[in-house]
Amino acid sequence: MSELVPEGAILQRDKKTFAIVPKTPQGMITADILEALAKVVRRYNVPIVKITSGQRLALIGLQREQLDAAWQELGIGVGQATALCLHYVQACPGNSVCKFGVDDSLGMGAELEEGLTGMAFPAKVKVGVSGCPMCCAESYMRDMGLFAKNKGWTVIVGGNAGAKPRIGDVLAVDLSREEAVALGIKFMKYYQEEGHPRERTARFVQRLGILAIKEALL
Ligand code: SF4
Repeated sequence: MSELVPEGAILQRDKKTFAIVPKTPQGMITADILEALAKVVRRYNVPIVKITSGQRLALIGLQREQLDAAWQELGIGVGQATALCLHYVQACPGNSVCKFGVDDSLGMGAELEEGLTGMAFPAKVKVGVSGCPMCCAESYMRDMGLFAKNKGWTVIVGGNAGAKPRIGDVLAVDLSREEAVALGIKFMKYYQEEGHPRERTARFVQRLGILAIKEALL
């Protein structure tokens, strides 16, 4: 059935209607995006609009014949939801507004998103970037997570909040922004090359062990 599903659409459990998830990097929304969404929701009588756990908006219940026109009218890129690639980088507001923020989680998230977009991985990948150790962006529960402290960025790998949850392992601490981005992308390339098909990073890190991964990457 999956080969019949149009690109950028998710078949729903009724096996007839679809959900679409426009790309909203780091959960940031503008008035233009809100207006485009509202227009599409009204025009196509979209029955459910849901804010997802990944800081995205899902439009649920579209008919197959509405999909192309809806995407065209939205004028927003596709947020990946089933492909074996980066699905999203979620980020907290960080030091742009939060009083606890130590560093720029939104900017860091955007940099990582740019670096990881277009890469194919063994399984889906989710990233969480937090501006302080409170980790509001669930950094320990994502395939890769970062958070900021006064001395620099901590990079965590192999976290997962799924059916077999796993708290990620710390790969490195006290990194500059450039070092953290470079190490994050280096880890993802390593996973790309060494991961088994469909193996999430949680199982990958568990299989290899964080010490071996550190040895290979640091
Ligand atoms: S992780 Fe820290 S900086 Fe980010 S929202 Fe939470 S408290 Fe604020």
